Amino acid sequence: MAIFNSMPTGENGLRELYSWYDAFVQTNSQIAEKKVLGRSENEGWEIPAVVVTDRSVPAQDKQTAVVTLARHGHEQGTRVVGPEILNYLASEEARQVRQRQTVVVAPMLNPEGMVREEFNSSMYGITELEKKIFGALCAEYVPDMMIDYHSLGKTDGSKYDLGDMEVIIPANTTKWGMDEQIHRFVAEQMQRRAEEAGWPYEIHSLEDLSAYYFGAPDGRLPRSLLKEKVFLLQMQNPYEAYDMPGSPPGYTNYTCAPAYMRWHTLVFGMETNHWSIGPDQGLGESGMIPCKALLEMGNERFAWEKDPGYPTNIICGDFRISVRPVGTTPGERRMSREKLWPERLYFDILKREMPDAETTTAEVRYTGEKLPLDFHLCLRMRQKTIRDVLVHGKSASYENFEDSCSLYLMIPVCMQQAGTVRVRIVHDAG
Ligand SMILES: [Zn+2]
Repeated sequence: MAIFNSMPTGENGLRELYSWYDAFVQTNSQIAEKKVLGRSENEGWEIPAVVVTDRSVPAQDKQTAVVTLARHGHEQGTRVVGPEILNYLASEEARQVRQRQTVVVAPMLNPEGMVREEFNSSMYGITELEKKIFGALCAEYVPDMMIDYHSLGKTDGSKYDLGDMEVIIPANTTKWGMDEQIHRFVAEQMQRRAEEAGWPYEIHSLEDLSAYYFGAPDGRLPRSLLKEKVFLLQMQNPYEAYDMPGSPPGYTNYTCAPAYMRWHTLVFGMETNHWSIGPDQGLGESGMIPCKALLEMGNERFAWEKDPGYPTNIICGDFRISVRPVGTTPGERRMSREKLWPERLYFDILKREMPDAETTTAEVRYTGEKLPLDFHLCLRMRQKTIRDVLVHGKSASYENFEDSCSLYLMIPVCMQQAGTVRVRIVHDAG
């Protein structure tokens, strides 16, 4: 049963949505709180956020998820998705999500655009207002995950598909730390869950997204442009950031790109479709299901991660050898990640070798200046019996965890000065 059976439009529709958010917070006051992130530039409409969480669990023991909707004023589908996501978050089904995560839902980023049924946004980066809003929001809630909802209408699908598609976009990332692969893996779980509920979704990468802009209306694909991802990354201006102390200020479709660049946040864009799916036909649910799937993944442990939570901890390297944050709680790991991620470029050696069947050696070199620097060197091992782990020739403590067929060693390293750390692992022959 949809919360909104018809599309809220115009000023009355906006007031209807605002009343719904307020009523939601009142009804669910134990778990929900409203914040005003700012006001629209000309007409002074509130830009609200609803924070849903189990307050009995300290914030440091939880991950932070941020869901944003409706930055493009005329993209109607987002209007009915927000309430469905909130309703899910208040349900018994979402109890564990509330216990393990603080979820911030900003359901109406562009109220003036909604009233006017216009784009009312910028083609050149996030708007000044958005920079302020997200700067303030993320200063309080550093996101571990962020998902930004848009909606396709009759004329704004891709240049070769003005039809009825809905899309999950693992975009605005780099190839660093296996991120392309990790985002794609998560997107596939979201897609599977949506399709199980009867909603066909496509996954479009950054390359595919470029076709929206550079494909031809007659269906000709922009093949030459698709060849070079390097070119495409220019669509995401790496110097764009939220307006926060210490951050320097191109077109970014999804609001989460700066969060990836700054905090290594897991980021997704979404496109629902209000041209072909009516609110009474389940438009809101079609958008909610992938979000629900993503939030629930945030409670689980990914095979290559030590702890349950969003898979954001490979700062540098790959699944075999990586630099990862330290910390025993989600809050401590978030802070460690925030410190390590900007340093990723200064890890210039990451190497492992097997001099003989019972020995694995590894090296990591850091040339930066953020010292002392604590991190984990994580190695995925074929060998299940570890006899000793030596750092610079001395036996060292370590933790381990397993996936279905291998063992991961988490070796704590504290660098007092820039240089190379050498590790030797003595194990059985495997
Ligand atoms: Zn949009």
